Amino acid sequence: MTNRQALIKTLDFQLDIQSDNEGLLYDACLEARSVYNESIQLAKQDVDWDDITGRVADDADLVKNTTQCIVAKALNVMENYYEYDDAGQPSHTKDGAFPLRANYEEGYNLSLTDDRTVAFRISAQPYKHVKGILQGSDAHLNILKAALTSDKWEIGTAEALFENGNAELHVNVTNTDGSVRDKQDSQTVVGVDVNEDNVALTALSEVGVEDTVVIEFPEIKFERHRYFTIRKRARDAEKLSIHDTLEGREERFVRDRLHKVSRHMVKWCNQFENPCIVFEDLKEMRDSIDYGTRMNRRLHSLPFRALQYYTSYKAAFAGIPTAWINPEYTSQCCPMCGHTERSNRHKKRFKCQSCSHQDHADRSASVNIAVKGIRKHQEWTVPALNSLPTVRTVRRQASGAVDAPTVTHDTVRGYQTDGVAGVSE
Ligand SMILES: [Zn+2]
Repeated sequence: MTNRQALIKTLDFQLDIQSDNEGLLYDACLEARSVYNESIQLAKQDVDWDDITGRVADDADLVKNTTQCIVAKALNVMENYYEYDDAGQPSHTKDGAFPLRANYEEGYNLSLTDDRTVAFRISAQPYKHVKGILQGSDAHLNILKAALTSDKWEIGTAEALFENGNAELHVNVTNTDGSVRDKQDSQTVVGVDVNEDNVALTALSEVGVEDTVVIEFPEIKFERHRYFTIRKRARDAEKLSIHDTLEGREERFVRDRLHKVSRHMVKWCNQFENPCIVFEDLKEMRDSIDYGTRMNRRLHSLPFRALQYYTSYKAAFAGIPTAWINPEYTSQCCPMCGHTERSNRHKKRFKCQSCSHQDHADRSASVNIAVKGIRKHQEWTVPALNSLPTVRTVRRQASGAVDAPTVTHDTVRGYQTDGVAGVSE
């Protein structure tokens, strides 16, 4: 991930449609759904990906450039599925409105009005526009106005969508001004071990382990399992629409919680001197030979990449760089003596078969991840680890609001899949 990609922000607005054709926009979102479905279906049929846009575009009642955006999004979902397999095979049978993704000055346009509001124009169909005024928080409106008048921000793709029946526009803007420190210039390296019900962070500097925190989120695991059971029953009863609805609710819940966790993580990292955040690279995990049952289960048990992405994104806005390491043996290696053996780890307990060192297993993994991060990117050497500080465990209060809407994109996945668009908050 380059710094530039990480500094994209998504601004969310409600659409005050004044051209009296809201139905046209809804129809375009339904058309976007069928373009998306058809693209996924063709990709599953092994049609050459380069040919899919051409095959879909002729039938679609959308601006051609917009059709291309939606096909590209569908293919990114497929690519992520093949690469990470982290959320099951993408569905091409869902119905209902789908985000209408469009390029700035192609499928949609924005302009500043005389009374300092922002007017929009979305091409719902060729030569048919939906027009009106954007409404939203001052924070997002101010950034958008800055983007329309200065060079500090650049306007990119947007998605028109319906959230709880209301038309919204999510606009991606890139901060061309901000910068992320070079990861080589870090004085603290924070290793992050992501698990199904917690995330462990250990900060390592030249003098040793500064601190460890384990942030627990049992409610995410609980809700995912609960939804999984209900959806399985719905699927067995062939009530597919219920299945899809529940899937959407689960995604919104998980996404909302992961945003909160990632915010907490960045705040924790920010207390250290020039930090760099280090994650396990899941692609390498998939490619590595020793990808044992624990990894396999982890790949399927949580939208890991979503948490990594949200955190990396929020960190970038705080100027903090992110690095990636090969996850091989991070859970089996003893951080004290280096002895590596699968039986060192038993569930949440780590006990070295060689030196008898005992620890919280996820903390051990996070130390190993930090060590790998230092070896890969820093000039300074890994300090001798003689003792480790007590693990502090933080449990976030479950909100209880399972169906609470979030302001992030209503994509079929729990996160932006293309690495180009940003995320909210
Ligand atoms: Zn040991």
